[in-house]
Amino acid sequence: MLFRILILLLLLLVVRALIARLFGAGRKASRKRARGGSSSVRATVRGRMVKDPQCGIYVATDLAVRTRRKNMDLYFCSEECRDKFLRGGRDR
Ligand SMILES: [Zn+2]
Repeated sequence: MLFRILILLLLLLVVRALIARLFGAGRKASRKRARGGSSSVRATVRGRMVKDPQCGIYVATDLAVRTRRKNMDLYFCSEECRDKFLRGGRDR
């Protein structure tokens, strides 16, 4: 009888430890996510800053609309700019 209680207690401890670990990990992860909220934006905007040849704005290569022309990578702030540029229009 005492043995059963001991096992039950042990089980309870294990379960509690598991829950604590789960919660701890979850809290840590969410804190990480929350802290990374602003920096993750910075992290995702990697790469160089390049000039949009159409409108002259600077865009990150990661976010830019990329197109290849004459073996050169061109980056635009939007598809609109890219289309304008490819059409040859330099109108602003
Ligand atoms: Zn543009």
